[in-house]
Amino acid sequence: MSIDLIKSVYYEFLSYFVPTKQKYKIKGYCNKCGQCCREISAVGMKNEKDLKIMQFFFPWYRYFYITRINDNGEIFLSCKKLNKKGECTIYKFRPLLCRNYPKKYISFNTKMPDGCGFTIESKNFKDYL
Ligand code: SF4
Ligand code: SF4
Repeated sequence: MSIDLIKSVYYEFLSYFVPTKQKYKIKGYCNKCGQCCREISAVGMKNEKDLKIMQFFFPWYRYFYITRINDNGEIFLSCKKLNKKGECTIYKFRPLLCRNYPKKYISFNTKMPDGCGFTIESKNFKDYL
């Protein structure tokens, strides 16, 4: 198991129990495009074996499968529970991971999926330098 994957397991675990220092505000609305379920960035995972390890620790990762690997070797996932209209077929029973997405505030600066109705507002002075 790589260090990146160990960190992923660790941070995924923490995300359910430990509030993080939050400095980036998420603004906007959900336009129900489904892109966040279609193109999930799998930080720390590099291949099928890594995904299987995540599925072992977090069973709801069994909904996900690998769709592509980018030039940096990062993998992207899609969800089997998304239908062709971009709707979640298990909406009432979707995992906490999905219920919490996107959070109102997050601790790191990132990018929302293409076409997403939400944007990230940077509140950190260093981001303007
Ligand atoms: S990508 Fe953004 S707008 Fe589209 S479904 Fe997900 S949260 Fe909603
Ligand atoms: S379970 Fe539903 S909300 Fe969660 S990623 Fe899959 S389709 Fe999206």
